[in-house]
Amino acid sequence: MIASKKIVLLGHFGVGKSSLIRRFVKNEFSDDYKVTIGVHISKKEIQLSDSESIALIIWDLEGQDDIHKTRASYLLGTSGFIYVFDLTRPETFKNLKTELRFIKENFPNIPIKVVGNKMDLVTKVYLKQFSVIFDQFVDYFVSAKSGSRVELLFSKLAKALI
Ligand code: GDP
Repeated sequence: MIASKKIVLLGHFGVGKSSLIRRFVKNEFSDDYKVTIGVHISKKEIQLSDSESIALIIWDLEGQDDIHKTRASYLLGTSGFIYVFDLTRPETFKNLKTELRFIKENFPNIPIKVVGNKMDLVTKVYLKQFSVIFDQFVDYFVSAKSGSRVELLFSKLAKALI
């Protein structure tokens, strides 16, 4: 039997949550910006080893600039989180530490990966400086556009769920 786990992507409007899911599930990217209304759910099965697979049920929530406003009912039964911010828009990571504290306090022991998306739009020097400040809070820099580290992100989270 394949284990099925719910994961939820969190983060402000326009940071690339839907794009990361689309890249991971369909290996596609589009420059169009379609606002997610309510919730959109996708599913993808991944093979973790010769004997282990997992089905990820991926919830894409309507973006919230304040995590406290996220509907609690959407978060019920979540096994893992991906918190996404946009490396090009400081307002999407200026409250990163408080938002993460809020998630960890309310969902203790639930794995969470924190990613800075749109790395294709910033320089290596910028990423280096960013790492110095946010090192302990950020797991990966990713790009839904180029696909960089997207597979790695979802598979690392999936491994943390079993
Ligand atoms: P969401 O509101 O968090 O779901 O954000 P979307 O996935 O809808 O993305 C918002 C906008 O950012 C869209 O125009 C996307 O095409 C663009 N976008 C998303 N990810 C990337 C990325 O990695 N690089 C670039 N250059 N643009 C991106």
